[in-house]
Amino acid sequence: MLTHNEPMSEHCSFRSGGLAQDFFIPESVNDLSKFLKNNQKSILILGLGSNLLVRDRGFDGVVIKLNNFKTLSMKNSIIEIGAGVTLAKIARFCETQKLNGGEFLSAIPGSLGGALAMNAGAFGSEIWDFVHSVTTMNLSGEIFNRSKNDFEIDYRKIIAKNNDEYFIGANLKFDRTTKQHNIKQLLEKRNQLQPIGLPSCGSVFKNPADQYAAELIEKSNLKGFCIGGACISEKHANFIINQTDASATDIENLIFYIQKTVKSKFGVDLEMEVRII
Ligand SMILES: Cc1cc2nc3c(=O)[nH]c(=O)nc-3n(C[C@H](O)[C@H](O)[C@H](O)COP(=O)(O)OP(=O)(O)OC[C@H]3O[C@@H](n4cnc5c(N)ncnc54)[C@H](O)[C@@H]3O)c2cc1C
Repeated sequence: MLTHNEPMSEHCSFRSGGLAQDFFIPESVNDLSKFLKNNQKSILILGLGSNLLVRDRGFDGVVIKLNNFKTLSMKNSIIEIGAGVTLAKIARFCETQKLNGGEFLSAIPGSLGGALAMNAGAFGSEIWDFVHSVTTMNLSGEIFNRSKNDFEIDYRKIIAKNNDEYFIGANLKFDRTTKQHNIKQLLEKRNQLQPIGLPSCGSVFKNPADQYAAELIEKSNLKGFCIGGACISEKHANFIINQTDASATDIENLIFYIQKTVKSKFGVDLEMEVRII
């Protein structure tokens, strides 16, 4: 399905952002492949938009949302998963299949594709710890199977050895031996610490080596500080909340203000985790 002038505020958890010139939801991998073969425009792949801010002037190209890529099946303890499957669903699938290690995924409100692109993690685990292989598609619509060795994996960062390929699925491998964490308890712990339910993108900044971004922001007395409708959460200082119809510019200006303040107070450069388009 191809539409035009789609408000990205409806697809991003910040509930803010400009229009996508074109917006395409492929029915299947073949549908995406065909579309890409004929496409000349710049593309932006969208998962659940939980780590994305599209500037107010919008995206002059085609946003492609992979929510129809819903494969979820298991063979010999390896789970084959489409890029559009939510992390919460994968966590529940692991739980019912008595596969351990995937419980942390329940705390991250993204899709598999977005998590692979971000190396999303929580409670000491990261998605790439469990990757057996991934399936990618390039800009010409060709499909590849890639191993973990085809990527450099770092904290909230992935560098692909083959440029311009997007994740359309992955095979994840969990085990049956490690202790299973209780998903309900993990979610309760997260709800105590984070402003869940309010429009945000989770942690705005990566933690600098041996430090916590939230602590640096809090020690800069910035909790509750707002620019326009964007405010630093009182509950977790590394969260920016869209409090009252914040524009993407409000949010970006607040990000710059935090970076400037923390740099002048502590000499630390905070690196963004949120992707700004
Ligand atoms: C309340 C809240 C709590 C959060 N907590 C955590 C947390 O504990 N840990 C954590 O790591 N993150 C956390 N996040 C951030 C976010 O949920 C993760 O980064 C998640 O993995 C993003 O997935 P997504 O599908 O929403 O990606 P999107 O936001 O849609 O996209 C993020 C980036 O990935 C790219 N991308 C998306 N899909 C693909 C694909 N198929 N192939 C290639 N590139 C792709 C996009 O182009 C974009 O650059 C939180 C966010 C919120 C709102």
